[in-house]
Parts: sequence; structure tokens; C-alpha cells
Amino acid sequence: MRILKIQTLRGPNYWSIRRHKLIVMRLDLENLAETPSNEIPGFYEGLVEALPSLEGHYCSPGCRGGFLMRVREGTMMGHIVEHVALELQELAGMHVGFGRTRETATPGIYQVVIEYLNEEAGRYAGRAAVRLCQSIVDRGRYPKAELEQDIQDLKDFSRDASLGPSTEAIIKEAEKRGIPWMALEARFLIQLGYGVNQKRMQATMTDNTSILGVELACDKEATKRILAAAGAPVPRGTTINFLDDLEEAIEYVGGYPIVIKPLDGNHGRGITIDIRTWEEAEAAYEAARQVSRSIIIERYYVGRDHRVLVVNGKVVAVAERVPAHIIGNGRSTIAELIEETNLDPNRGEGHDNVLTKIELDRTSYQLLERQGYTLNSVPPKGTICYLRATANLSTGGSAVDRTDEIHPENLWLAQRVVKIIGLDIAGLDIVTSDISRPLREVDGVIVEVNAAPGFRMHVAPSVGIPRNVAGAVMDMLFPNEQSSQIPILSVTGTNGKTTTTRLLAHIYKQTGKVVGYTTTDGTYIGDYLVESGDNTGPQSAHLILQDPTVEVAVLETARGGILRSGLGFEAANVGVVLNVAADHLGIGDIDTIDQLANLKSVVAEAVFPDGYAVLNADDRRVAAMSEKTKANIAYFTMNPDSELVRKHIQKGGVAAVYENGYLSIVKGDWTHRIERAENIPLTMGGRAPFMIANALAASLAAFVQNVTIEQIRAGLKTFRASVSQTPGRMNLFNLGSYHALVDYAHNAASYEAVGAFVRNWTTGQRIGVIGGPGDRRDEDFVTLGKLAAQIFDYIIVKEDDDTRGRPRGSAAQLIIQGINEVKPESRYESILDETQAINKGLDMAPDNSLVVILPESVNRAIKLIRGRGVVKEETHQQ
Ligand code: ATP
Ligand code: ATP
Ligand code: MG
Ligand code: MG
Repeated sequence: MRILKIQTLRGPNYWSIRRHKLIVMRLDLENLAETPSNEIPGFYEGLVEALPSLEGHYCSPGCRGGFLMRVREGTMMGHIVEHVALELQELAGMHVGFGRTRETATPGIYQVVIEYLNEEAGRYAGRAAVRLCQSIVDRGRYPKAELEQDIQDLKDFSRDASLGPSTEAIIKEAEKRGIPWMALEARFLIQLGYGVNQKRMQATMTDNTSILGVELACDKEATKRILAAAGAPVPRGTTINFLDDLEEAIEYVGGYPIVIKPLDGNHGRGITIDIRTWEEAEAAYEAARQVSRSIIIERYYVGRDHRVLVVNGKVVAVAERVPAHIIGNGRSTIAELIEETNLDPNRGEGHDNVLTKIELDRTSYQLLERQGYTLNSVPPKGTICYLRATANLSTGGSAVDRTDEIHPENLWLAQRVVKIIGLDIAGLDIVTSDISRPLREVDGVIVEVNAAPGFRMHVAPSVGIPRNVAGAVMDMLFPNEQSSQIPILSVTGTNGKTTTTRLLAHIYKQTGKVVGYTTTDGTYIGDYLVESGDNTGPQSAHLILQDPTVEVAVLETARGGILRSGLGFEAANVGVVLNVAADHLGIGDIDTIDQLANLKSVVAEAVFPDGYAVLNADDRRVAAMSEKTKANIAYFTMNPDSELVRKHIQKGGVAAVYENGYLSIVKGDWTHRIERAENIPLTMGGRAPFMIANALAASLAAFVQNVTIEQIRAGLKTFRASVSQTPGRMNLFNLGSYHALVDYAHNAASYEAVGAFVRNWTTGQRIGVIGGPGDRRDEDFVTLGKLAAQIFDYIIVKEDDDTRGRPRGSAAQLIIQGINEVKPESRYESILDETQAINKGLDMAPDNSLVVILPESVNRAIKLIRGRGVVKEETHQQ
């Protein structure tokens, strides 16, 4: 077996609209191509031995053991690889269930599709599955040690990619609420929502978090001074920079016991509490010095450690943090008890689990000594033995939820204090013997205020109720349901995507909104080009959706991007499908026009249920997409008598129809005429029917988004794409005695579309300079030849500079074959070089003729034409 290609999908895709995270592996079964599993001696046994848990896979029989039954009875290796890849991820703790396997048009080559949670793990699982199956085929087994290594590696991928418990909690809540999120390129920034409605977060800081608030909170001394001035209870203390000042500082705070800590530390680093002697104080000073230049000396307050989380002015959770400890059992030593505690599967490294493993440090031994123990002591049954002085979760502490116990006065105080510091999200560290009594009564203090407080202790306390603190953050950032989104309009089809996208963007601009749009020519925001290039994939969509100025996104969505990585968004408000015609067949395992239709259908299906799929009623494959989408349907048609559209309107549907020379919206009993086609420059005076169709689609997409008829009309009438804006889209040049037309048409449907315009050219001869991209199939060239014979009076057949792997002359030969098949009397010649061919066409042009050039390089063609003295560029004008 050999893996030919691995692709990673991240959005709605050809295989599934709902499952976005899929790996697609193109797998050549090679010598196993014709050998089902039952014909491979020992395979079934070897597989069951390696992965007995495959028993849990149902597969088509629909019951436990169903998949293994298929293996025993005989199934192809691609299918087995799929199940093994899923199971490996499952064994590494990543729950995935979706998989598909299909043979491609090339016998023996399969597409194996598997779900993933973590991209790298998914790709790894695909490769490991192939390795595992191959090993069982070759040797009857897969070594246990290797399987264990695979699973460990998968676990590592998953852990390394983890965004941390607080961010995970936020993302989970966002997903639950249908708020889109993306990880940005730097600084672990997370974007929630799209465009102008986005918010950013970094851990638990938001873009509402004040930098002044953060800096104040990080300066413990300043925080205490501000709070003391406001009458809030804070530890009595002072800050020193030299050991010489230590004695005086201790006196100032009222003598032992004291606390020594670095001025700007966190996670409990460098802190020593409950210091009772000068020796301890000196050692503690040195330890704090490792972390910070300035050192805080504070009175030590006896009490329990609490974290009070305030979000948007409200206390949303209170946790008591209990320092790392063990409980004696009368038999084991402290060292043994620590080891035992750390075996708890809930304890991980750092922040990646509910709890963190206990590790001892300098203060631990001191603490043990004070309790009269060493690591080898055996504490009596039931005694608690503390191992860390501070209660940070990251040093092995645990958390008890106390949200329901906090005294109302403390609640008020906490909320007021956070307001004083000036933070939208903050965690207060409060030391008090009893949080259910006012701090003032029990000599409790606010030790510090934390910006970016961790959520782990609240969402997963060791004891008590988990609190949905991320929910409070979402309520703050997105007060109502819709406020995270911007309208997304996605446009696909075989031909006309760029034109329709640009027109739709232009129509939408009439509403005064900032429109971001992507096309094959480039990415634009408002009136400006952001980036030129073929930008029809998910990355370009992300650029628009990440832009904080964009109010509406109009996205040309081409097949390549959908195939490569899926859509760049979860669902659109409007999905437009213009047409499906034979083009690019045989590329990317899309071999038939029906497969192509299934691919384009992704755009119609990935639409919100209250959104619209805008479908071409005149194209049966597009119209049929109405069956597959859950969205509302809106049809456009060039045929005022369309039966499909008539019924649709009768049922209360909306449509755009070309009737009596008008582009009209029909809804219920009413026909809203937008404009006469001949007044719309794009339609070239009504002579280019396919442009009318594109304009209908764009108008309808805008209409279902509540753009008014007046705004649509204004857009249609003012959309004048110049040659520089839309090179290669029906660029018509007046050369005095004759005209030249440059267009990108390179497949049958677009030849026909251009042909409809050319046939309307009745003043003189029609000369075609034609060809097609070399990577298309032989029969496609024959078709182009046949069409050309029916459109032109004289044909010059040329080829692209880049033949895309085809022998020079072959494409031209096939086109000529097509010409001869339908019209042997046609006049034609073959000039393979594009420049020469164009020049020949222009040289020979008789008066009043039209020279139609369908070039590989539009820029070169336009240059050649301009070199001849253009009188007027009539692109999209009457
Ligand atoms: P974190 O990152 O967990 O917030 P930190 O490094 O910022 O910790 P502090 O919050 O100042 O440090 O102190 C850590 C813990 O030490 C407190 O939560 C509290 O339990 C204890 N502590 C600090 N100062 C005092 C004090 N003056 N009296 C009693 N306990 C204290
Ligand atoms: P690409 O796949 O190259 O990005 P596209 O779908 O974006 O193409 P446009 O750039 O808008 O299409 O148009 C390219 C050409 O396709 C036009 O110049 C015209 O020849 C033809 N065309 C445009 N609209 C249609 C249509 N609705 N039906 C058939 N052909 C069309
Ligand atoms: Mg703290
Ligand atoms: Mg395009």
C-alpha cells in the first residue's frame, strides 16, 4: 500500500456538511487492490489481536462486531485502514466516529476519509493505520510496542495542541452558542465572531480588558495602595529593595509571622508565607529575589485561600483553594502517599488536566519540618499533611466551590474592588477564615487582584458544583444571539462566479456597508484591493472574516478550495449556485458532472436554516440541490414560463425572473421590476444573456438579505467593470473599423455563453482565436471545436504556452477534429503560438467584424489589441 496524498479538511466539505474536521487520504492499494481481507491468510486474527477494541465498530451490519464481521467475510483494505485510523485515535482518548471509503475512477486507488479532533494526530493516525495493516498483511502481526508508541504519540499531539483549560472552556461555550471562533496567527489570540462583530481573547483577557487595569493588578504594591485608599481590607505591608531594610520592614508590619513575596510574581513563585524567624526571613528574601528586584514584606493573615471571580461587574464563582496535601492512612509514608496521589488520572502536567501532580519544593520541607515530619514519616490515619504553603492549582492544589457561601457584603466588596482596579474579568485572592462572614468581622484580607485569572478551578473544581464562568464571558462579549456574526454570501458555479461576486458586492455597497469580497482576481475590502491572486479558498475567506472593518462578506467559492480544505466558514446566510457544467473533470477525483454538482452543492447546503440557497432553476443539477439543503430556496430563471419557478412562487417562494426585457423579483402575487436588461451595462445592452443570468442571481441574493429593490437597481445600473477591474470578462474593444472581444471562456458552457453574444453580432464576420487548457480531457477539446464551428465564420486554433503536460499540437488537433465533425466546410487554420494567432486574427479582420480572442494570457492579448490603437474600450457598456 502507498499513500499518494493526505489532505486536511477544516470546514463543510464534499464528504460532510456537518463534520468539518476530516483527513482525506488517497491510498493506492497496490498488490492488495484485488485481495479482500478474507483472502489474506491470518489477517483477521492478526487484526483482532492487535486491536481487539475494533469489536466496538458497528459498520454496515449495524451491531457490535459488525465491522469485524465484514473483515472476516472480506472487505477491501482501504475500508480497514479507515476503521483502524479511527480506532487508534479513540485509544488515544480522542473520540471520533465518522469515516468513509470510496474507490476512485482509477481501480485500486481509494479515498479514505477519517474524522479527527487534532489535525496532526489525524494525519498521523492515517499513516499509522496503513503501517499497522501492512504489517499484519506481511507478518501476521503488529508489534505491541509499536502500537503503544503510536498511541503515546497521538496523545502527545493532542496535549501539545491544547489551548489551555481556560481557553478550552471559552471555546466550548462559544461553540455551544454557535459563535464562530478561530485561532489567530500569533500570541495565542483567539477570535470570536466575524468581521466588525468580532471580539478577541487571549487566555481570559478580552479586548475590553483595560491595559491600565492589567498593569495595576500586576503591581501588587500599587494595587494594595489604591485599595487601602478606598477603604478595602488589604494586608499591612511594605516594599523593599535591599536586604538591609528587611529588619525595619518586619517591624513596620508588626513583627512575625510574615509573608515575603516578589512584587510582580505569579503562580505562587518565590513566595514564602508564615515566616516566624530571622533565618527563615533571610532565606525567603533570597527566594523572592530570584523572581523580582523589589520584595514585598507583609503581615501573615491566618485563614483559608479563596479565589473570587468577577466577570463584567458580577461575582460569577468563588472557589476555596486547598494547598497540595496528603491524608495519612496510618500505614504509608508521606513519600508513598504523594506517589499514590499522583497516580490519580485527574492529575496531569501543568494545566492540561483537572488537577496537577504534586511536586515538592524548598518550602515543602520546611513545612513538613514544622509539622514534625520527614518524607519517611507515617502520619496517623486521617491527619492532613500539607505539602505546599500556597494553594495554586499548578503546584498540586485542589479547589472547592464556595460560590453559594460567600457573604453578600463580600460579594459587594469584590465587585467594587474589581471596578476600582478597572478590569472586565478579574480574580481576587482573599485570605479569610470564613468567606460566609464579612471580611471586616474576621480580619480577612484581599491579598491581590489577578488579571487573566484561570478558569480551571471554577469549571472543574475538585469538590462542589462546576460553574459556567465562560458563559458569563460570552454574555458580556455577545449580549444577544446574532451579535457575533456578519452576513456571509458565498457564490459558486462553473462559470460566472467572479462576475457575480463582484456585482453582488457592488450591490451590497449601495447599503453603505463595508463589503469584503474574494475573487479569482484578488481580495478586496470596500473599494480597495487587499491582495491580488486567485483568492477563492478558505484562507482568503478567513482574511475577510478576520478583518475588523468588514460588515458583509461576499465570497467567491471555487471547487479547488472546497476539495482541498472545505469551506472557510461554518455556514453562510446566502449560498449562490450559478451553474454546473463540464470543466475540470478528472481532476481531484471529481470525474463526472454529477460528482461536480455534489461538490458545488456544499455551498448550497452550508447555509443557516433561516438563510437562503439561491439556485439556478434553468440548470437541473443546480435546481436539484433544493432537495439537499435545509435552507430556504430562492430560484432565478431566464425563462418566465419556468414550471418549477411558477410552483415555487405559488407556494410562497421568492424568485428572480427575466421577463419581457426586465430583471424582476417575483414574490407572492407581486412582480417587482428592478430594471430593463438593456439599461444594465453588464449585460452589454442585453446582448449577453449569461450576464443577465448572473445579474439575476446577484439581485436575488441581495434581495433575500433585505437589500431594497432601489438599492439593487442602483447597483445594477452603476456596475461598470472596466478592463482593469475585470480583465478577461467580456472585454470589448472598438478598433475603428472592427471590434475585438477578449474573454476567459475555456469550457463548453462558457463557449456557449460567449457564443450567445457573438451570434448577436450581425454587422459583419465573426472570427474566433480559440484554445483550451491542456489538462482537460480529450473529449473536452473535441467539444470546444464543435462549439466553435457553430459560433464563428473563421477559426484560428491556438494553444496555451503551458500545455500542462500535453504534447504540443495535441489539443489543437482535437479541436480541429471537433470542427470537422460538425461542419467540415468550416474555414480554419492552426497557429499554435498564441501571440502569432492573435496577431493573425487582428490582421485579417475585415470591416465591421468581431475578433473573439479566448486567450491563456489575458494581459498579453489586451496589450496586443491596445497596440493597434483602440478607439474605445466598451467593456460592459452599450
Ligand atoms: P497566584 O498566581 O496564585 O495568584 P501569586 O504568585 O500572585 O499567586 P499571591 O496571590 O500574592 O501570589 O499569593 C499566593 C498565595 O499566598 C495567596 O493566595 C495566599 O494563599 C498566600 N498569601 C499571600 N499573601 C498572604 C498574606 N499576606 N497572608 C496570608 N496568606 C498570604
Ligand atoms: P473561474 O472559474 O475562472 O474563476 P468564474 O466562474 O469566476 O471563472 P467569471 O470570471 O465570472 O467566471 O467569468 C468567466 C467567463 O465565464 C466569462 O468571461 C464568460 O465567458 C463565462 N461566463 C460568465 N458567466 C457565465 C454564465 N452564467 N454562464 C456561462 N458562462 C458564463
Ligand atoms: Mg494570587
Ligand atoms: Mg472566478
